[in-house]
Amino acid sequence: MPDPLQAAHEALCRRCGRCCYEKYVVEERVFTTRTPCPHLDTRTRRCTVYDRRTEVNPRCVTVEEGIRLGVFPADCPYVQGVAGYVPSEEGWLDDDLVRWIEEGVLTRAEDVRREMERRRGRGDAAAAHRADRRRRPY
Ligand code: SF4
Ligand code: SF4
Repeated sequence: MPDPLQAAHEALCRRCGRCCYEKYVVEERVFTTRTPCPHLDTRTRRCTVYDRRTEVNPRCVTVEEGIRLGVFPADCPYVQGVAGYVPSEEGWLDDDLVRWIEEGVLTRAEDVRREMERRRGRGDAAAAHRADRRRRPY
C-alpha cells in the first residue's frame, strides 16, 4: 500500500536530475561532473530504476544521506531551510578536470573553481561547452 507520507516527501522533488550526476569531493566541497548516473534518463531526467535504485546502484543515496553528503544543489527543495547545509557546486567538471583531480594535480577546492572559471573564459572552451550542454540536465 502506498505510504502517503513518503509520497508527499517524494513530491517535493522537481525531477531536475542534477543530484544524479557523478561528483567529486575536494577539500570537503562537492563538485558535480557532466557524467550522469547510468540509470538516469537524461531526456526525461528520471531514474529508470527508481523503485529498486538502492539495490541496482549501491552508490545511490537516500535523501537523508544526500543531505549529509552535500549532493544536492542549493535550490533543491530538500535542502531548503536545512541549517548549515553546503550545496554541491555546479561548475560542471569536464573530463580533463576530473582526471586532474584523480591524478592529484588539483587538490584544493579553490584551484578547481579557478580552473573552471579559466576554462569558461577561454574561447576554445566554447565548443566544448556547447557539446557538454547536450549532456547537461538543464
Ligand atoms: S536535485 Fe533535488 S529536485 Fe533535483 S532531482 Fe535531485 S532531489 Fe529532485
Ligand atoms: S540510481 Fe540513484 S543516482 Fe542513479 S539515476 Fe537513479 S536515483 Fe539517480
